[in-house]
Parts: sequence; C-alpha cells; structure tokens
Amino acid sequence: MTLPFLDSFDLLKHQIKHSATEFISELKILKRYQKNIENIFADSELTSSRRYRTITKSGNLAISGQNLNDIWSLSGIAHELGHCLYENNAKNSFLKPFYSELIAHIFEEQIVSLILRDEPSILKEWNHYQFSVDLLNLYFFILEWHPGFFEQQQRKVRFDPAALLFRESLFLIPGYQLVYGFASVWRCLLRKQNISIVDLLEYLINATNSNYQK
Ligand SMILES: [Zn+2]
Repeated sequence: MTLPFLDSFDLLKHQIKHSATEFISELKILKRYQKNIENIFADSELTSSRRYRTITKSGNLAISGQNLNDIWSLSGIAHELGHCLYENNAKNSFLKPFYSELIAHIFEEQIVSLILRDEPSILKEWNHYQFSVDLLNLYFFILEWHPGFFEQQQRKVRFDPAALLFRESLFLIPGYQLVYGFASVWRCLLRKQNISIVDLLEYLINATNSNYQK
C-alpha cells in the first residue's frame, strides 16, 4: 500500500492577500461567533514559530503560532480556532476530544477552501492534501490500534518521515490516534453534505452539553 507523501511545501507557502487572522475576522459565515473569535485572537500568541497549538489563557483556550500571509498559517490558525471555539463552549465529556478534533479538521479544510475559491488549480491541490491527511490519520489509527497489521499484510508503506515526527501524539498520548481517525472518517462523510461549519460547531457544542446534563 502506498500512502501519499505530505510533500505540499509549495502549496502551504502559497501567499494570500491578508494575514490569517484578518481573513478569518472578516468571514461572514463566522459572524455568529465574532465576539468569541475576537477574544481568542486577543489572548493568542501569534508570533511563536513553533508548530500551531492551543494554549490556556485565564481558563480559556487560545492559539499559539505565527500569523502570516500564507496557506500554512491560515490552515494552522483555522484548525486551532476550531478547537478553541468548541472547547471554550463545551462542557467536559468523553466525547469532547473527538468532537474537538472533528471541528478543527473541518474548520481547517473549509476556511482554506474559501480563500482558494478563485484559484481552482490550487484548490484542487488543497483538496488532495486534505484527503492525504485523512489517509495518514487512518494509517496512524491502524498502526496504533492494530500493530503489525501492515507487516501481516506484507505491504510496504511509504510516507514522509516528517509526518511521523510531527505525529507527537503517537508517542505522548496513548490511544489518541482513535481521535484523529474519528475526525477523518466523519470529515469524509460530511464532505459531501455541504454543511455550514457554524451549524456543525453549534450542533457539536449542544450535543456535548446535553450529554453532560443527563
Ligand atoms: Zn487538532
């Protein structure tokens, strides 16, 4: 089995007119959460050159990572924003890590797709890249939950060693590849549904909080 390389350096360096936070702040589809987004960006550390991640600021999640004018930055900030908006509004539940990763994956995919609307060839590359991420998520899920599967199948798996390096959670959070696998399977299922990302965010928050109250 051959998995795609995540060798999309040129795609991720593709320049955009505005910085990631400027573009996101202007998005009409996110109007309902404008105040939350302003607060998250105000609490965020947007000059860190480390990989994109969430940080906790006075009890709420915010973002750490560079705010630049390229797809790499927009995808990183959109992904972490999905985590922040969901987790800052959802109560604790065993479902929380699953829903959080799902909405983060969907925010990343959809928000970057919006900026690439008028550039069909780059948008096509972006769609391919996101599908490659889904394949890698499923690969790591099988690797963690059924070690030896790929050897038993006597298949050679080929992927960018950098992808392994970036998969910190494989080493740090046992069992977490299940969360990524869940996010990718659901993202694939929802991809054709044309669902609004804000409606989905609200649905996941309500589903988590109603489950908590029972
Ligand atoms: Zn994530």
